[in-house]
This record gives sequence, C-alpha cells and structure tokens, in this order.
Amino acid sequence: MLAPPEKETAAPTPPESPVKSVDWSDFREHLATADKEGHRLWIYPRKPRGRFTSARTWLSWFLLAVMFVGPFIRINGNPLLLLNIVERKFVILGQIFWPQDMILSAVTLLIFFTGIIVFTAAFGRLWCGWTCPQTVLMEMVFRKIEYFIEGDAHEQRSLAKAPWTMGKAAKKFSKHAIFLGLSFIVGNTLLAYIIGTEQLYTIVTDPPAKHLTGLTFMILFTLLFYGIFARFREQACTFICPYGRFMSTLLDENTIVVAYDHQRGEKRGTLRRTQTAEQRKSAGRGDCIDCHQCVSVCPTGIDIRNGTQMECVHCTACIDACDSVMEKIRRPRGLIRYASLNGFERGERLRVTARLVGYLVLLLALIGLWLFLVFTRSDVQATFLRAQGALFQQMPDGHFSNLYTVKIMNKTSRDMPIELRLESPSGSLQVMGQAIVVPKEKLAENSVLIELDRKVMKSGSTPVVVGVYSNGRRIETLKTGFIGPRDDTK
Ligand code: SF4
Ligand code: SF4
Repeated sequence: MLAPPEKETAAPTPPESPVKSVDWSDFREHLATADKEGHRLWIYPRKPRGRFTSARTWLSWFLLAVMFVGPFIRINGNPLLLLNIVERKFVILGQIFWPQDMILSAVTLLIFFTGIIVFTAAFGRLWCGWTCPQTVLMEMVFRKIEYFIEGDAHEQRSLAKAPWTMGKAAKKFSKHAIFLGLSFIVGNTLLAYIIGTEQLYTIVTDPPAKHLTGLTFMILFTLLFYGIFARFREQACTFICPYGRFMSTLLDENTIVVAYDHQRGEKRGTLRRTQTAEQRKSAGRGDCIDCHQCVSVCPTGIDIRNGTQMECVHCTACIDACDSVMEKIRRPRGLIRYASLNGFERGERLRVTARLVGYLVLLLALIGLWLFLVFTRSDVQATFLRAQGALFQQMPDGHFSNLYTVKIMNKTSRDMPIELRLESPSGSLQVMGQAIVVPKEKLAENSVLIELDRKVMKSGSTPVVVGVYSNGRRIETLKTGFIGPRDDTK
C-alpha cells in the first residue's frame, strides 16, 4: 500500500468540493461518502476529461455492445454465456456445463479465481476502473445522462439545493424516467444471461399470467438496477463488492496502481500568480498546487493524495484532472499516474516477481487441464445397469440373456440418434422398443436385452463392454456385468 504523505495541516475543503467539509487528517477513520453520524454525503463528481477518459469511453462502447448483444450470440447453436442457476445449466463460450461436469465446473471456477488473483497482483484494480459492468454502466451511461440533463457538478449541486419548480421537476422526472427505462433494459439483459433469450421472449410475448415468476424477476431486476444506478452508486463498490474488499490482500509493492507521487507533489501549496518554478522549489514546495481538481472529479469522493484507499476504483479521472492542471502550470504530466510503489519510491521499472510467476504457472496449468477436460469429455453421459430385480434367463436355443436399463443424458444442443453395440464378448444386443434418439439437453431411458452364448460366459458374472455410437462414431464406452449360472450349476 502506498503510504499517505505527511502534511503540514489538513487542507481545507473548498466550497465547490463534491463532499461536505471533511477533515482529511483522519480520512482512514471514516468514509468520504458519510458524515460522522453515518448519513450519506452525496457525491457530485465533476465531468472528467482527458486521454484516459477518452480511452475508457471507447472501450466502454465496445464492452456495452458485447454485453447487450452477448445473449444473442451463438456458438455451435449455444449462447456465448448462459448461467441458468434454476436448471443448473451453464454455457461458457458455447460449451455446455451440466451438474454432471463437476470436475470441469470446479476447474472453471479455479481458473476464474486464479485469473483474478494474477490480474490483481499485476495490474491492481484495472478491472474495476476499465471493464467492470458497474463502473462502465455508472460512469459511461447513467452518469453521462445525468450530466446531459442536469449539467456538470456545480449545476447539479445548485439544482439539488433549488426549490421545486416546473423546470427542476421536469429535469428530475426525465432523468429518473430514462434511468428506469435503462434499468429495465439492463435487468432484461441479465435475465437473458440467466434463462436465455428464447425463454425471455416467451415471457415478454405470452399473457402475463403464464409467467408470473419470470415477470416478478423482471420487475425485481429493473428496480434493483434502478436503485443501484440512481441512488446506491459508488456504495456498491465500497460496501457490497467482495473483489474490492479482498483486493488489498493481493497488492504488493510491484502492483500497478493509480497513485499520487508524493515525493514530487509535497509539500503541496497553492500557486501564487507571480511565483516561478524556481521560487516555488526554493520555498520547499512540490508540484501539487492543492487545487482539489483530482478530488472534485473522483466518483468515490476520496483524495488520492492520501494514498491507496479501498474506495478507489482506479477509474483514472484524477489522472486526467491532474494532468490538465500540470499542463496549465507547465509542469510534466504524471503527478498522479499508474505506477507501482517501487516505481514511486525507488524509480524501479515494473518487474515480474516470483509470486506473480507462481500464480501464472498455476493459472496456465489450470487452463491446460480445462482444455484437456473440454476436448476429451463425451457429448453424452450414460449409465448401463442391470434392470432391478431381473435375473438371467436361458433361451430355448441355449443362450443366456440379461435385461438392462440404459440412461443417456444428451449434453449437446442437438438431438442425437444413438446406437448401442456389444463390443465384447461376442453376442447380441437388442434395444427394446423404438430406436434411441435423445432430444437435446434431455435424458432418455431404454431397456436393453443382451444375449450371450454359454461358451463366452464366465462363471457367475461376465464383464461386458457396450459401445455408445452416434452417426457411426463411438462417443462413449460402458462397462457392466452379465449374470449367468455358476460353474457348479452347469
Ligand atoms: S489535481 Fe494535481 S495539483 Fe491539483 S490537488 Fe490534485 S494532485 Fe494536486
Ligand atoms: S482516486 Fe482517482 S482513480 Fe481512484 S476512484 Fe477517485 S478518481 Fe478514480
């Protein structure tokens, strides 16, 4: 963690600050978004501008497109991503995972968590600031609509204080109406990732009474997202998100973080018009002119100059704000920048640590195992058991027969014609009833009769191997036992 710099006195918060007056000298004792009694302090962040904000905006458009189009993308007929908790069916990159794929699911989860650890150890909270759906939707969609309707921070603050008039009511009503509509779209998108677009379409088009549960979730998700983006906002990152909580345990002195270069910036102090850079330096002043621009753009209301803080989502707004100040006072950019603690303290270049290498090796091993499991797993899961209570029978021609029950789970999204062949020993296998065709994502159950010649049978139980074929290709091999008479009863 980057330590906060020593300061002469706590800097006074200017009147246009996004938060009420806060004594920053005890900033670790309270949240920037709450007063001492715990009441919420509403944040009015100033509109950020700059190269990082532009890059994040472009990336956000791409991510939003992927997020909203995602449920409609199909790979081999399967969705790109489906997390159907209700039916315990999961699709990742077109690959279906069933509860039966326990090991594969466990490895997938391990990859997910190891990936987070590797990524965070190396790049800090890059995910939070650049790609997290909460940040992207809040800062790039909802916040921008708010700026468009209510204006920048100072206009929003004035509007909040102003008495209710038709103009204020119109602004507030239109903003919240748009927020509610957008929350409905976001909620339905989430629902599409859970139940799939087909089911979502039937909920929308069928009479409401037919899908009361689905409609209830639709309303709940809409209200949930409206609550998050209209009211809860940065509190979701500070109080709810588990990633933000445990991320501090993953950072080390080589992790890249957004931070203030206190060696260069301190002692901070306002810039007098007539003061030259040399005069400022000889007066013991650093590059920070204490303008609070970095604080006024922060969507979580913190002062990055106090060091790395859990509220910081690494959104880069303070970098852009400070860079523009540095340009104006003709000082180099980067007083607030992406760097590691070692970079700030010792000027070290970024390096790969042993801990990171260890995490990377583990991650690569898990990805290798996942690929192996995916490419070697069968399209079906089958069991082949002797029918309950059935004994062997001797046929008129002297052969012996056993009755079995075969259960075949089709894990694919296409119907599968299935053929069963007796691989060993030689004999005959007959499926009772119609030929087996297992509908997609369904389980089929059939009775099967196997007949063996006494000559190939062993005493008591004979091992039997049955091949499961689809379109001439063997997709599974099953082993079972064939019961017959013992030698002493020959
Ligand atoms: S924007 Fe830069 S110069 Fe201004 S207070 Fe923040 S760190 Fe200091
Ligand atoms: S401190 Fe800077 S990077 Fe962190 S949340 Fe605030 S503006 Fe974003």
